[in-house]
Amino acid sequence: MSTQTLHVACAHCRAVNRVPAARLGEDPTCGRCGQAVLTGEPVELGDADFDAVVGTTDLPVVVDFWAPWCGPCRAMAPAFAQAAAQLKGRALLVKVNSDDHPRTAGRFAIRSIPTLVRLDHGQEVARRSGALPAAQIVAFAR
Ligand SMILES: [Zn+2]
Repeated sequence: MSTQTLHVACAHCRAVNRVPAARLGEDPTCGRCGQAVLTGEPVELGDADFDAVVGTTDLPVVVDFWAPWCGPCRAMAPAFAQAAAQLKGRALLVKVNSDDHPRTAGRFAIRSIPTLVRLDHGQEVARRSGALPAAQIVAFAR
């Protein structure tokens, strides 16, 4: 196991915590709010907090750009949640409602939804459009 320390934003209060990589699997608690840093659930982000969380998290980030009116987006939501649980401590899965947060969606030039974007320290490294099953979302995150 690595002795590296990772920066991970708290799923609840967004505070950036320093977590030894080896302890990511042990449900670290947040230094500010005392809740679990990692929930194993997708984190909803938007124009106000996207950069603060995504830019400071050392884990790979997978963003699901979606909207409530989009049937395929809603159909993929359970698979995305399942992938988030499987990837707990290894990747951060984020949902952005592109209707409510047009600035973030616009910056990534999202033309169709659902679109998945993988980020490494805030930089886009991969993207896939269209709904995916959980196994493919997990594969996409790596
Ligand atoms: Zn917290």
